[in-house]
Amino acid sequence: MAKRDFYETLGVAKNASEDEIKKSYRKLAMKYHPDRNPDSKESEEKFKEVKEAYEMLTNPEKREAYDRYGHAGVDPNMGGGGGFGGGAGGFGDAFGDIFGDIFGGGRGRSQGPQVYRGADLRYNLEITLEQAAHGFDTTIRVPSWDKCDTCHGSGAKPGTSPVTCSTCAGHGQVRMQQGFFSIQQTCPKCHGTGKIIPEPCAACAGQGRIKRNKTLEVKIPVGIDNGMRIRSSGNGEPGTNGGPSGDLYVEIHIKPHSVFQREGDDLHCEMPISFAKAALGGDIEVPTLSGKVSFTIPEGTQSGKTFRLKGKGIKGVRSGFAGDLFCHVAVETPVKLTEKQKDMLRDFEKLTTEGGSKHSPQSKTWRDKVKDFFE
Ligand SMILES: [Zn+2]
Ligand SMILES: [Zn+2]
Repeated sequence: MAKRDFYETLGVAKNASEDEIKKSYRKLAMKYHPDRNPDSKESEEKFKEVKEAYEMLTNPEKREAYDRYGHAGVDPNMGGGGGFGGGAGGFGDAFGDIFGDIFGGGRGRSQGPQVYRGADLRYNLEITLEQAAHGFDTTIRVPSWDKCDTCHGSGAKPGTSPVTCSTCAGHGQVRMQQGFFSIQQTCPKCHGTGKIIPEPCAACAGQGRIKRNKTLEVKIPVGIDNGMRIRSSGNGEPGTNGGPSGDLYVEIHIKPHSVFQREGDDLHCEMPISFAKAALGGDIEVPTLSGKVSFTIPEGTQSGKTFRLKGKGIKGVRSGFAGDLFCHVAVETPVKLTEKQKDMLRDFEKLTTEGGSKHSPQSKTWRDKVKDFFE
């Protein structure tokens, strides 16, 4: 699916200012917010789309890359396999950014540094159809943030300490007069933390935390389908000012299979059989995801005939019931025949033609239709 242009998504011009982008985003995000549209998949998708566009266009570096290279310039999923699409699918941090500012006071939140929930992370995990059918345990490497050992999390160079922000007197918020309104805003100097670090810790650049990787165990349940997401609670980015961490979403991508196509919990496969086998009937062996099974096809099986093997599909991740396997038979015309084989076929053709149309009812029906058509 082609991705929509970020400017178009937000309904702003290419040269829109950050204020215009914020304004438009606020309007759209409120319209599509999941709290206002419970159970609407469409709104949720719209919301995510709008949020992504907003995040990209309000980040000067990303906006520049996007203007220059389009989606390929900013999409972590383009030109690479698994990995992270930071923040996608999350609702937390965008609200920290904007709605926190608007509603922070109105909701009766106490004065003080703003508390933000960490962003959600998405991890794309590619698995095989067999793994999806049987379920398995795996481990993934995800980023994690540890408290900085050098400054013990304060962000200040050892021997120094953070000082109270003079602009907001440590509240993290300031009041601004805008027309008739007095608006409470995040303090621009300390960004809501209420503290200023005069000499940042060199080890963590004043962040108070250091990014590392950790290994997470993920249980892939039996029957999981393409696009489904497994939530790992609290394993997203850490919150700000003691806010809760976001969640990690492991999104499943199933690789195409060489034999089976999946449709819901059913499987489909094409089975070539010989012309003689189709005519005479008999046992054929069919692959399933749990070994081979054999079944009998009747005499005179036609090409395109579908056989349904009940319960040989995939056990549904929600229903717990197994789907079916649909075997589509394709009669194969023999090739590279020897003279002897060709002679035998010529004899065979002569004999069946002498037997009249009873050997080929489809051809007879077809000839009748053609006759009707011309007369
Ligand atoms: Zn540090
Ligand atoms: Zn401040």
